[in-house]
Parts: sequence; structure tokens; C-alpha cells
Amino acid sequence: MISIRNVHKSFNDLQVLRGIDLEVEKGKVVVIIGPSGSGKTTLLRCLNVLEIPTQGTVSIDQLSLSFEQKVVKKQLLELRRKTGMVFQSYNLFPHKTALENVMEGPMIVKGLPKERVVSLAQGLLEKVGLGEKADQYPHQLSGGQQQRVGIARALAMEPSVMLFDEPTSALDPELVGEVLKVMKDLAQEGMTMVVVTHEMKFAKGVADEVVFMDQGVIVERGRPEDVFNQPKQERTKQFLSLIE
Ligand code: ADP
Repeated sequence: MISIRNVHKSFNDLQVLRGIDLEVEKGKVVVIIGPSGSGKTTLLRCLNVLEIPTQGTVSIDQLSLSFEQKVVKKQLLELRRKTGMVFQSYNLFPHKTALENVMEGPMIVKGLPKERVVSLAQGLLEKVGLGEKADQYPHQLSGGQQQRVGIARALAMEPSVMLFDEPTSALDPELVGEVLKVMKDLAQEGMTMVVVTHEMKFAKGVADEVVFMDQGVIVERGRPEDVFNQPKQERTKQFLSLIE
């Protein structure tokens, strides 16, 4: 479902990604861990081409873009539409209700008729446990609820893969669980997911594969039980000893 080959990304002189290869099969969950500044967010942003790789190939759901040559905007948009992204900050439209926030993408980008979008959006809010909150505005919702609206909003575009960039980092601790639960449910339904997170319990419980990044490269990857219990690389051991 996702395949990236030899992806490099630099910002001026700063080499942030230095040759990343990654494959994610349909229905699998990959969790990316690693120290701050190791390039995790940049990798996710290259996957949905919010950042354009300096070099390499990104393929999602049978659409492949090679960045050796110039890529036209239409292709970028096509690739981006295959992904749903959930950010650390929920970025909901403050003057729209939860329902309207979820409706925005399918109405504006896909041009679907309003009646259909209302029932789609209501269904997605129910799926994330917020059916009753459809008419509330973001400021009337807790951080965890807002993030769940963020997930429903991303799902509304019917993406082939979901990308999560530290979706619970901005939340008060007691609100983290409700967001992780929605993510876990999605994984169990067979959604293909790439998740950057510091929630090691989630990684252990839900990931099919854990990828440890440091300094712009993948240092180690494997099944969560192997990476967490028997890390092979010294850098992985060090990182895990600091966070556990
Ligand atoms: P992580 O998610 O692992 O914390 P990031 O991908 O956010 O790492 O950042 C990796 C490095 O790239 C950092 O040194 C960061 O400052 C740099 N970086 C990220 N985005 C930009 C940008 N738009 N311009 C310049 N430097 C950036």
C-alpha cells in the first residue's frame, strides 16, 4: 500500500532524511519512534508530499512519484488525496461545528452533494464516539474530542492510508486514551496506518512493525516485541532506556 525508496530530504544545507526505504502492506500499522529531530515528522510529511523529497520515490496505493525529475502539482494533489493526516494540533475550523468540520473536505474538494455528506459526516462522528457532539463548536469540545473530530475529518476523504503525527502529544494525560482507542479501532478494522508517537504502550499493543529512526536514517525495525525487548542496535537500546 505504501512503498518509499531512497527518500532524501534536505532543508538548505541540513540533511534531514538520508535515504529512507519503507514498505507498509495493506491493513498494517507501522509505528515510527525516535529522538526529537530525527526526521520522523519530515518523513510523514514526505509521505503525503506536504514536503517534496529532494530525491527518491514515494508510492501509495498504485500511484508512484519519482522525485528525480520535477513533479507537477496535479500529481502531488492526487498522491496527497490518498492519505489522511492527523496532526498534533487539531487545526479545526473554529467557526464551524464538529459536523461542518468533517463535511468540509468531501463538499469542497470532492464536490459531493450536501445531503450525502451530512450523513457521511454524522456516521464518522458516531464512529469516533462523538455522534452527540455534531453541533458543538471546537471551543466547546475537549482536546481529546477535538482530536477525534480531526480523525473523522481525515477519514471523510476516504484515504487509502492514515498518517498520524504525534496525535496525542498536545493532550492532557487523561484524554490520551480516548484518542488511542479510536486509533486502535481503526487499526482493527484494517486501516493502513503510519503513526509517529511516543506512546510506547500503543506501539507495543497495536503496531505490526516498529521503526526506530535516528539522524535521518532507519536504524532498526521489526516486530514490537523484538524491537522493545531485544533491540539489536546500540542506539535503539540507548533511546529505549531513556524513555522507559
Ligand atoms: P522529529 O519529528 O523526529 O522531531 P523533524 O522531522 O520534525 O524531526 O525535524 C528534523 C530536523 O529537520 C530538525 O532539525 C528540524 O529542525 C528540521 N526541519 C524540519 N522542518 C524544517 C523546515 N521546514 N525547514 C528547516 N528545517 C526543518
